[in-house]
Amino acid sequence: MEEAKPLNFLEEIVAKDLASGKHQTVLTRFPPEPNGYLHIGHAKSICLNFGLAKRYNGKTNLRFDDTNPVTEDTEYVESIKNDIKWLGFEWTDEFYASDYFDQLYAFAVELIKKGLAYVEDASAEEIAAMKGTPTEPGTNSPSRSRSVEENLDLFERMKNGEFKEGSRTLRAKVDMASPNMQMRDPLMYRIKFAHHHRTGDKWCIYPMYDFAHGQSDAIEHITHSICTLEFSSHRPLYNWFIEQLALFPSTQYEFARLNLTYTVMSKRKLLQLVNEKHVTGWDDPRMPTISGLRRRGYTPASIRMFADKIGVAQRENLIDVSLLEFCIREDLNKTALRRMVVFNPLKVVITNWPAGKVDMIESENNPEDESSGTRLVPFSGELYIEQDDFMEDPPKKFFRLSIGNYVRLKAGYIIKGESVLKDEQGNITEVHCTYVPESRSGEDTSGIKAQGTLHYVSAVHAVPVTIREYDRLFNIENVGASDEDFRTLLNPDSLQVIENALAEPALLDDKATDRYQFMRKGYFAFDKDSSGKHLVFNRTVTLKDTWAKASK
Ligand code: ATP
Ligand code: MG
Repeated sequence: MEEAKPLNFLEEIVAKDLASGKHQTVLTRFPPEPNGYLHIGHAKSICLNFGLAKRYNGKTNLRFDDTNPVTEDTEYVESIKNDIKWLGFEWTDEFYASDYFDQLYAFAVELIKKGLAYVEDASAEEIAAMKGTPTEPGTNSPSRSRSVEENLDLFERMKNGEFKEGSRTLRAKVDMASPNMQMRDPLMYRIKFAHHHRTGDKWCIYPMYDFAHGQSDAIEHITHSICTLEFSSHRPLYNWFIEQLALFPSTQYEFARLNLTYTVMSKRKLLQLVNEKHVTGWDDPRMPTISGLRRRGYTPASIRMFADKIGVAQRENLIDVSLLEFCIREDLNKTALRRMVVFNPLKVVITNWPAGKVDMIESENNPEDESSGTRLVPFSGELYIEQDDFMEDPPKKFFRLSIGNYVRLKAGYIIKGESVLKDEQGNITEVHCTYVPESRSGEDTSGIKAQGTLHYVSAVHAVPVTIREYDRLFNIENVGASDEDFRTLLNPDSLQVIENALAEPALLDDKATDRYQFMRKGYFAFDKDSSGKHLVFNRTVTLKDTWAKASK
């Protein structure tokens, strides 16, 4: 049975609003700006918005906040939709803030008519100079006292393209002495002669976030509008517009944005990593993007589990990426097929193996999941094991292969090291062993206790594969808190490629899955760079958290 978790603060608010009858149903929204790919921080927000609605039988809209035509693009719209679906969520309605441009324009005209908005002639610098500081009030602009008629005329002409970019803006007439800087006559519209990915060249004025967001919420009858903490100071303005326009009373609530160790989380920085080719693209498996995590081998369930575990905080914090790694290990341990792959091969010749004989040994696909079935693993007289699984002069407690020592080969036999062959430089090229015929896995009657169990592949059956081992993208924990340019903090060893690792042949036949545990190596995911019979795998995560130990 699932343990009943206490409600988080947002659930408490929703439960109260439903109980009091303030709202009959819950409607949330996820409002991405289509100016980049979604990252794990957005996943947190998605799980929160969709999860909250689901819990209270409500609905969630997807709304693209596309009010900035310069940075937005349809490619991003498609990737965002794809990522949300992949995470396992379905939105009720799909909207665009640009759907409301006519309505928002009408709202602005209404505010002008009420004497609550005016056309500003001052430049951005002049506006900033009149704004005051948090401890000193601002000064009223000369434009503030314009008549309603003049404002209506100028605003219409702004819309008609009569004025240059930057020459005029529309401002709300609130209070230049407000202790809240956001309330000091904030901008509502700016002139931008830019092509919009949906509205084309219809508009040359575009609403600011503060005038678009809350009004869009209200138009859709969003009950609980959840955003990150940096918008707390915008809440009074959000409410002011809704009250002055007498709209549906959507309410804004804030939670702490997710920050993760060893990475950056702003789309602007992620875009820089892509454009400057520090990574191969938005879906580079080292990126904290949803598409990067997917390619790395993360499952939707593991990301949802992570979002659930971190909960909703009301204070900024930094979450350790090992928690995310814990979640994917939990999931893959239950679901990933076990396979054997040798990364640095060393040849083993079994001298008492009958010439030409091949045993096909049935072995479990996943001991954690009976329904996963079995596969056949070939065993023959020439095998490969990992180089570091053999030592000629082993220290005490070396439980792998050495001369005179027994080890078990998984899904195979017990073997004993007998002698080594070396090249002219003295490097070991082959280990000669004998095997114990009565020790076949599953029917072992030998009575011999082998100390360790190794993975291996049969030489003639082995399939060469490419392995990409990924590590932290950055060298320091809190990249955001550093004064250095974040690009100088990149980990130069975040990718190691092993070109000719050798895999058991079952990997070639697997059509149904693309996530594996390579025995003793970690969890790996099939990569789209594979071609024909040459397979490429990305390391999702190691089997254990080696990083935490190493950095202590
Ligand atoms: P970034 O700063 O990374 O560009 P953003 O906030 O500008 O992010 P939007 O597309 O505007 O990105 O965000 C869509 C939604 O996702 C917003 O509601 C925002 O609050 C939320 N969100 C963005 N980043 C995070 C984060 N790190 N943690 C939690 N929620 C986030
Ligand atoms: Mg934004």
